[in-house]
Amino acid sequence: METRNTDYYLLDDLLTDEQKNIRAAVRDFVQTRFQPTVQQNFEDGKFPIELASEMADLGLFGPTLEEKYGGAGLDSVCYGLICQELERGDSGLRSFASVQSSLAMYAIYKHGTEEQRMKYLPKMAKGELIGCFGLTEPDHGSDPGGMKTHATKVDGGYVISGQKMWITNGTISDLAVVWAKLDGEIRGFIVEKGSKGFTAPEQHHKFSLRASITSELLLDEVRVPSNSLLPNVSGLKGPLQCLTQARFGIAFGVLGSAMDCYERTIRYTTERKQFDRPLAANQLVQAELAYMITEITKGQLLAHRLATLKDAGKMTPTHVSMAKMNNCAIALEIARKARDLHGANGISYEFHICRHMANLETVKTYEGTHNIHMLSIGRDVTGISAFS
Ligand SMILES: Cc1cc2nc3c(=O)[nH]c(=O)nc-3n(C[C@H](O)[C@H](O)[C@H](O)COP(=O)(O)OP(=O)(O)OC[C@H]3O[C@@H](n4cnc5c(N)ncnc54)[C@H](O)[C@@H]3O)c2cc1C
Repeated sequence: METRNTDYYLLDDLLTDEQKNIRAAVRDFVQTRFQPTVQQNFEDGKFPIELASEMADLGLFGPTLEEKYGGAGLDSVCYGLICQELERGDSGLRSFASVQSSLAMYAIYKHGTEEQRMKYLPKMAKGELIGCFGLTEPDHGSDPGGMKTHATKVDGGYVISGQKMWITNGTISDLAVVWAKLDGEIRGFIVEKGSKGFTAPEQHHKFSLRASITSELLLDEVRVPSNSLLPNVSGLKGPLQCLTQARFGIAFGVLGSAMDCYERTIRYTTERKQFDRPLAANQLVQAELAYMITEITKGQLLAHRLATLKDAGKMTPTHVSMAKMNNCAIALEIARKARDLHGANGISYEFHICRHMANLETVKTYEGTHNIHMLSIGRDVTGISAFS
């Protein structure tokens, strides 16, 4: 039935064939290659790194970059739809690609030299090199400006010391973009795996984003060469410009989780009977389903408009804050309602809902928490900062 799919406002009418084809290709990859093992991977706390080369073949790493850097010059709607379809599978899968593309590759693309771009980006696009992005520290999450990690200039390079925490892809990365203070200013450095004094132990015992690798980055007087500094930026805007790119992807991505929860709930509540009639025959249940599809539709419109603004060069960081904040909140709420409507089955791995729900707790928190995005919007509309 037409109205049971998640394109309630016929947004597909606005998509090009290329955008639809890319979405279909990623959806197919996720269904056939990722979905069969996601339950086991989530249970085992494992990311299926063996899929990285297939993801690269599909062009999922740095897809918006120019061809000479290994990208395909795709537009922002395409990038958003890629994130949506990856996260329909699992937030951990989308996180893997987001960190590679929007954080690690983008940092090098935006803030690096041409030599650094050519050295790293084509190999990262092919999945031959995996990257991570080290900003958060144990004592500095929402307030990264207070970071303690620091670099000192020495002959021929820099020495970096400090600790990063909660870093996606850390343990499986070949290189880390590490943010550290040099003479009191935040600067970005490319730290390669194997550098003396650099380790990236995995963080275990997570309830959320279990099919994703999360790590500490420990830097004990790590010596890096001069050309590891990303020279084109200093200050907090360096990492924040990268985070704006990644948050853009999240605004689309979480809709994928929400759609998966909604579609499963439509199926479940129309098939399962209690009191001799389908669950979906009850007004209270229909109210929840109506809420879900309404919020998904509003989220889709927000995300689509955000992509249009981005490609027109009109997107601001607070446009992204609004979409990231709103879409994470509604996706989490939809997952919670879906969990409830699945009854006891809702907590089972087999029904996938609780996995999305647990993942979305992380997605609401990382890349700027809900509160911090709200405060950013508040600052924008009042001209008064309530948090810095
Ligand atoms: C699985 C996972 C993966 C991650 N991946 C990465 C990564 O790849 N790279 C990276 O650098 N980081 C990563 N992070 C870290 C993430 O970005 C931080 O957790 C996030 O920025 C929040 O910081 P915090 O956890 O220290 O919380 P805190 O900053 O301590 O915040 C705790 C609570 O207080 C609220 N709060 C804080 N300040 C204020 C205020 N002024 N007013 C109102 N409320 C406030 C917050 O909104 C939140 O609700 C990851 C986190 C997780 C869980």
